[in-house]
Amino acid sequence: MRLLLVEDNVPLADELVGTLGRQGYAVDWLADGRDAIHQGASEPYDLIVLDLGLPGIPGLEVLGQWRAGGLSTPVLILTARGSWAERIEGLKAGADDYLTKPFHPEELQLRIQALLRRARGLANQPKLEAAGLHLDEGRQCVSRGGEDIQLTAAEFRLLRYFMLHPEQILSKSHLAEHLYDGENERDSNVIEVHVNHLRRKLGRAVVETRRGQGYRFGGSGE
Ligand code: CA
Repeated sequence: MRLLLVEDNVPLADELVGTLGRQGYAVDWLADGRDAIHQGASEPYDLIVLDLGLPGIPGLEVLGQWRAGGLSTPVLILTARGSWAERIEGLKAGADDYLTKPFHPEELQLRIQALLRRARGLANQPKLEAAGLHLDEGRQCVSRGGEDIQLTAAEFRLLRYFMLHPEQILSKSHLAEHLYDGENERDSNVIEVHVNHLRRKLGRAVVETRRGQGYRFGGSGE
């Protein structure tokens, strides 16, 4: 999953880019509201974390412009402590959730996971489940029938994306766009390698190849 972080506090942003990266998210970071308006609307983000106090254009206006332009990406706003007015204005402007600074990184992680599941219509799943697999996003491992199967970081990222999009046909370039940040060179052949690794660990039928179209996870198999 690919996230946009808009935050002008550099030490905080640095820390969040690090922790979100370790949690398997591809993160693009911006510090200015003007850049955020453009990039948030033009890149295919799965979720946006938006600070409200920003240089350039304030976060509330950024959010208002995104929503007015039809952007439906989930947005979690970061607000100042004790500012209930800011939270209310943020929710009115189209935020999906908020966190008050300072916050514990684990709370941000859990809210992001919940928002991503909700956006995919999977709000009823406290843990991701699909095709007989249970994904533990905290431990970055998957289990089937109570047995843990270890994953590399890249396999975990790919499997999480598949499990959030079961039975959809996903092209290699689409997957690359959602698994790598804007700084990384996107080589969609790498996706093929990781898909093969997942098949070796989880069984061939778990990811089906649709010739000329892409991959489909969790279908009937053959
Ligand atoms: Ca700020």
